[in-house]
Amino acid sequence: MGETEQLLLIIGIFFVYILATIGVYQVAEKNGRNFAAWFITSLFCSPIVVLIILMCIGETSEKRKEEIINEELLRKKIREGITCPNCHNPNAKDNKFCITCGANLGAEV
Ligand SMILES: [Zn+2]
Repeated sequence: MGETEQLLLIIGIFFVYILATIGVYQVAEKNGRNFAAWFITSLFCSPIVVLIILMCIGETSEKRKEEIINEELLRKKIREGITCPNCHNPNAKDNKFCITCGANLGAEV
């Protein structure tokens, strides 16, 4: 193997490592994991190995809980819609006027 091929191989490996490290950052961020800890781990083994581990273990239970709570809040918002400020009857979220008393609901949004 010539010197040029060796140099290209080193650059190639380096490039793959950089890409894998970016991947580790993105997966860690998405799954609510500590990037710094996983970055240090990737220095000891390999960012490619760490990336595979991160993908296998998925998101933290805290992150999952957070997502469930957000989903539930959104669902609750859609379900409840708008309560009329005048007669306190429930209205669909996108109603402009109250279906019971005809009060303007625009101010509520
Ligand atoms: Zn009303």
